[in-house]
Amino acid sequence: MIYLDHAATTPVPDEVADAVRDALVKQFGNPSAQYPYGREARELVARCRETVASALGCKAEQLAFTSCGTESDNWALRLAAHQNRHAGRHIVTTAIEHSAVLEPCRQLADEGWEVTYLKPDRDGSITAEQVALALREDTALVSMMLVNNETGCILPVGEVAALLKERGSKALLHTDAVQGFLKVPFSAATLGADLISISGHKIGAPKGVGALCLGERVKNPRPLLAGGGQEDGRRSGTEATAQLVGFAKAVELRRANLDASLAHMAELKAYALERLLALDGVARVGNGDAPHILSVSLVGYPSANVVEDLGSQGICISAGSACHRGKASHVYEAMGLTKKVKAGVLRVSFGPETKKSDVDALVSALEAHKNSRFPML
Ligand code: PLP
Repeated sequence: MIYLDHAATTPVPDEVADAVRDALVKQFGNPSAQYPYGREARELVARCRETVASALGCKAEQLAFTSCGTESDNWALRLAAHQNRHAGRHIVTTAIEHSAVLEPCRQLADEGWEVTYLKPDRDGSITAEQVALALREDTALVSMMLVNNETGCILPVGEVAALLKERGSKALLHTDAVQGFLKVPFSAATLGADLISISGHKIGAPKGVGALCLGERVKNPRPLLAGGGQEDGRRSGTEATAQLVGFAKAVELRRANLDASLAHMAELKAYALERLLALDGVARVGNGDAPHILSVSLVGYPSANVVEDLGSQGICISAGSACHRGKASHVYEAMGLTKKVKAGVLRVSFGPETKKSDVDALVSALEAHKNSRFPML
């Protein structure tokens, strides 16, 4: 199998799977229990927290584990809205956020909040100046992703943090860094965002684990899940110890070779871009700089057909975003792509394991697809 869909999810390395199995079998105690099994599990969770927090660049106590990036995003938006509910009821976000941000924004709009959605340009970029223009006295929250999951565009979150500071804004800044964590260099300590969402399965951890980093301006964060008061009262639910062990092990592995693996992905992306653009009828979509995501269009060829055709040959890529399950993507819509370009958008995404020969196989398969019986729009 040729797997070129690392932005959707990533393979789990053996070392991670072994660590997860070990934790499941040998360290199954409930971290809240008072006997040694419980204490062991509690210490295990604490070590996992140290590992992930250190990679993110925050203090361990600032990191709360969640069940996924989606939960982190939902929680961040809800807690920021709650904290600043008396400061105003205006939210600034972008039209290209993941649905894990857009849906809670829609819910908040139903509850009377006003949401401004910043539009990208044709390349998928959004600027800090756009935020500056949208920011109001009553803005309670700005939510801007770090890396767009469909185009690989890096958004100016650091500049927005500086802008909020300069304006003395009460607005909390949330960033969905699910596609940025261990893919583009940043540190929670210097980025300036108040809330940072990350997810394990984009970096080789099992699905079903994520985290939210809560900065100093976040006061008494209102839990999304109320109950037994785990995670220092911030997120109830018995800790998913095995998942957390997998998360920490995946972080360790990625971190150990980070510079080399990011350079490797960037090189593959450049190679893929060059080879794909040499094909007749292929256009680049967006100008994303993230090393692991490349978006192109086989103009006029419905991407669902392409993905299925390649899938049947064991080549996995995505038609825009896997999360949309065939629906036209709001991201490409917002970028104002033409109908034919939009129809043919393909997302190719790389991981540390990807090889040049994987890219070669993709290019040959796309060429064959173009020359086959598949209909154009
Ligand atoms: N945010 C972004 C940018 C994503 O790409 C994804 C997943 O694709 C999510 C959030 C959701 O993360 P999870 O799958 O862990 O819920």
